[in-house]
Amino acid sequence: MKVYISATLRNFFERHEELDVTAGSIREILNNLQDEYPDSKKILFDENGTLRNFIQIYAGEDNRTSEDKWDEPLSEGDTILLIPAIAGGAPEESIISDSRRKEVSFDDKEIERFGKHLMLREIGVKGQKRIKASRVVIAGAGALGSAVIQYLAAAGVGTIKVVDFDEVALDNLQSQVIHTTRDLKRPKVASAKDKVKNINRSIVFEAENIKLEADNIADIIDGYDLVIDCTDNYKARYLINDACVLCGIPLVFGAIYQFEGQVGIFNLKDGPCYRCLFPAPPPAGLVPTCSEGGSISPLAGIVGSIQANEALKLIIGIGEHLSGKLLSIDSLYLHSRILNVEKNHSCPLCGSVPTISGVQDFDYDDFCGLKETEEIVIEGFTPEELALRIENGDPITIVDVREPHERAILRFPNAIIIPIGQLARRQNELDPELDTIIICKEGKRSILAINTLREAGYKGPLFNLKGGLDAMKDIVFSHEGAWL
Ligand SMILES: [Zn+2]
Repeated sequence: MKVYISATLRNFFERHEELDVTAGSIREILNNLQDEYPDSKKILFDENGTLRNFIQIYAGEDNRTSEDKWDEPLSEGDTILLIPAIAGGAPEESIISDSRRKEVSFDDKEIERFGKHLMLREIGVKGQKRIKASRVVIAGAGALGSAVIQYLAAAGVGTIKVVDFDEVALDNLQSQVIHTTRDLKRPKVASAKDKVKNINRSIVFEAENIKLEADNIADIIDGYDLVIDCTDNYKARYLINDACVLCGIPLVFGAIYQFEGQVGIFNLKDGPCYRCLFPAPPPAGLVPTCSEGGSISPLAGIVGSIQANEALKLIIGIGEHLSGKLLSIDSLYLHSRILNVEKNHSCPLCGSVPTISGVQDFDYDDFCGLKETEEIVIEGFTPEELALRIENGDPITIVDVREPHERAILRFPNAIIIPIGQLARRQNELDPELDTIIICKEGKRSILAINTLREAGYKGPLFNLKGGLDAMKDIVFSHEGAWL
């Protein structure tokens, strides 16, 4: 029989975590262990020869601690676990039903693979079966997704669905550790699939190479146990939250920006949803996204690992989790705090009188400020059009509204530099007789800049660089000499 020895007991078994013991009952196993490892006698038994009361003995899923069960025959393939009681909170209810758990079985390889879970009293065989029975959707195979996907695959989640429409780009590799240089230009879901299959071929991996939208999200997440939000934009975040509430699926949320991270669990039973915490996103362009603002490489691993840990706790049904709470981490100064999140009873989604009854009826572009309003049409130049005007020597003004550290990465020649916050009061530096082109990294903050100038009463013609400098990079690099 295989006997797993819990970490705290291992010193008494010459540091072995797993032993092969020939025996047909628990009593024989205990006798053989004492013969082979005399030191173990004093940790297992008191001076009267009674099993110490902090030790639990399991044969597979059955608790055999009580001495009247020591002579019951053991079945072939049962794994015996010696586990000390350690302080722990009352287990929460698992999101995986007992009937689903009971449909799952393990082979020898799996017992070996997941041994370090099986020996945890809080997980054990029951918990590991719940993990294997679970079906999890991970939205986003980027920075957070890299950690979440790989840890959930390694932990043994039976079905993993990954949704992402993007391809791997060079600047992804600084934090998206599931992708490698070899994967450049491949769909992220394909690259993620390879890594998961390398970890464990028996995982059912479902790739959805598609952008989550109001008209497809219900089909993608319905019937799954848990959704993990690893996206990087507000539209996706609200869409995922809303669809989870409407489909009745709990959501593990995570977000990173520069050095800060957030993790929370929403829509668990009657817990709050993301809208209860943040009823509306910030105005478009005001808060840069992670792709605009950057983030330190390991932060995604820290936050994604906490998301994976929370997901496993929900699946197993153990510990305290972040439902009704928001964990906020500052990795620059190593501060973290847990904030309480109250359910908002006037929440338009999960409150007492909800007004959102379907994601298809809700205008996420408008809500997230991604729509150009009809009365203020933003005119723009494509990178090629702007390059042509510069080459023709047209009298134009180019205003760069990026932050200093962004300009250090790619300088735009001959641009006036005015940070977005100073635009209104420095509008007199612009010539209203000339065309003024506003540039930023992705062409979103520049729209906010144009709106800001118009609201401040600027009357001259204003244009946006479509797609920002990201779209124009190649032209800038090849023309810089000529433009200077
Ligand atoms: Zn809500």
